[in-house]
Amino acid sequence: MEFNFFMPVRIVAGDNCVKKNAHLFAAFGRRALVVTGKSSARNGALEDVVWAFNQNGQQYEVYDAVPQNPTVACVEEGARLARGMRADFVVAIGGGSPMDAAKAVAMLARQGSDGSIFTREISADVLPMIHIPTTAGTGSEVTPYAILNNDEKQTKTSISAPSLFPKIAFLDAKYTAGLPLPVTVNTAIDAISHAVEGMLSVRAGELSDAVARESLGHLFSAYGALRGGELTHADRCELLYGAALAGVVIANTGTTPVHGMGYCLTYFHGVPHGRANGLLLPAFLRVCARKDPARTARVFAALGMDADAFADKLAALLGSRECYADATLRDYARRAAANKNIKNCAVPMEEADLYEVFKASVGA
Ligand code: NAP
Ligand code: ZN
Repeated sequence: MEFNFFMPVRIVAGDNCVKKNAHLFAAFGRRALVVTGKSSARNGALEDVVWAFNQNGQQYEVYDAVPQNPTVACVEEGARLARGMRADFVVAIGGGSPMDAAKAVAMLARQGSDGSIFTREISADVLPMIHIPTTAGTGSEVTPYAILNNDEKQTKTSISAPSLFPKIAFLDAKYTAGLPLPVTVNTAIDAISHAVEGMLSVRAGELSDAVARESLGHLFSAYGALRGGELTHADRCELLYGAALAGVVIANTGTTPVHGMGYCLTYFHGVPHGRANGLLLPAFLRVCARKDPARTARVFAALGMDADAFADKLAALLGSRECYADATLRDYARRAAANKNIKNCAVPMEEADLYEVFKASVGA
């Protein structure tokens, strides 16, 4: 047995956990910048956080202009605000977009914006962060990654450093109650992809595999509800917990080609992140099964189904698929082959394999 597992995030879960644990905010300082999108003002999350600030006599400002697929311009603006108000800490509320943006804001606020966000060394000097997910998918609340649009390279690029781990993640499924069904489905598929890809990473180990299996059990327990379109609070708790566990997996393993390929569909066509992964995952697993049957069999054992059943289950959630021309997919395979996620896969993937996956998944 050989592994190296690290998880420095305090995870506080349960109904009303923000208000019940408002005292945990007090240790972070007097002034907070909240980094969020628009929905947190409607789903109760911002209200609970403001309640906690008021309990502690803390001042705050809200930066709620984070778009889906955050940009460098947006995180630089957030960092200017943080510096201007001399923020002591950052509270991220939202899906992966605001949670990732908050990490970059917390870093730039202390380390300055000099246009080199994708190439610089990220030091330990980052504002401390508290993360509150309002989607059940990315697991960003427990990862050291922030994924931003990289217009120079025409893709999404991950920045990563141990200092980008949040200090606390609060998990309360009530914030996800009003999540539109397509977002609920896409984000759940993202989490499934994290658990599956984590098991195929060169950095996978016994403990990350155990967490991945546990994660898949929780995520698939809500499959019937996702398929039927009616989710109870209990279903949403399962998804939120399963997604956080899948985040714990990728915090240790990183993601693999599905994410690297999916960025093409998101960057060029606006396909939501989780949906992009879901479109590609079944064909990716078939290529893995051909090249490394034993390793891939462990993934299907964790899923409790074979390749066909898994493909059918995802297809039922995804509905009609996007289709792209052959030349486009060849271009995407070339671009994706340069992504660092490809080398992170324990099953070696060549550009031709990536093209095969694209073609089988979203070929015209
Ligand atoms: P998202 O882009 O954060 O949110 C999708 C949509 O859902 C937005 O319109 C958002 O609106 C809305 N929304 C969020 N919570 C809601 C709620 N409770 N009720 C109603 N609407 C709500 O989507 P996501 O899938 O969670 O995050 C995707 C991003 O995460 C991508 O950029 C992806 O690359 C990244 N990601 C990061 C990691 C990581 O480890 N860091 C892992 C996977 C993916 P508002 O934002 O306006 O509120
Ligand atoms: Zn993802």
